[in-house]
Amino acid sequence: VSLDLVEFCHGLIEELQLSLGQHHSLVFTHQCPNLNVCMDEKLLRHILTNLISNAIKYSPNCGIVTLNLVCQDSSAIFQIKDQGIGIPLADQEKLFEAFHRAQNVGNISGTGLGLAIVKRAVDLQGGEITVNSQVGEGTMFTVTLALSV
Ligand code: ATP
Ligand code: MG
Repeated sequence: VSLDLVEFCHGLIEELQLSLGQHHSLVFTHQCPNLNVCMDEKLLRHILTNLISNAIKYSPNCGIVTLNLVCQDSSAIFQIKDQGIGIPLADQEKLFEAFHRAQNVGNISGTGLGLAIVKRAVDLQGGEITVNSQVGEGTMFTVTLALSV
């Protein structure tokens, strides 16, 4: 099924701003033409919604959550960035394992399953997910998915 990626991301950010973003500003940026691609819309929605809800949840002092979309050659790169608590280096490699929660979560509740499921969904699409984070500064997750136009 054909999906306009820019329109889709724009709509999703508007929707999540209303449902989850009472205390945060959600921003969508991109450097892409309005491009119709073949992508599983439900799976993509699951992946992005999960990463954006984490970005909000782990930014207890509010701040800006950005979704940046980059279209490159034959892939789409989604960068989800926050200004939250960050993730200690020792936890970064285990984040995608079920039930793993970082040592600095404090009293923010969760089960530790969200990212394990996101990782499965990304793998199913033959994509990649990576994390960059600095404690006290913020976190950026990058999801790269192949485009078939
Ligand atoms: P849930 O299953 O409800 O999503 P969770 O949020 O704890 O629970 P994951 O989404 O799998 O579980 O995330 C795993 C862990 O990774 C979190 O517990 C947290 O320590 C860390 N984490 C994930 N996203 C962020 C983020 N944006 N900023 C800081 N830490 C994060
Ligand atoms: Mg989560």
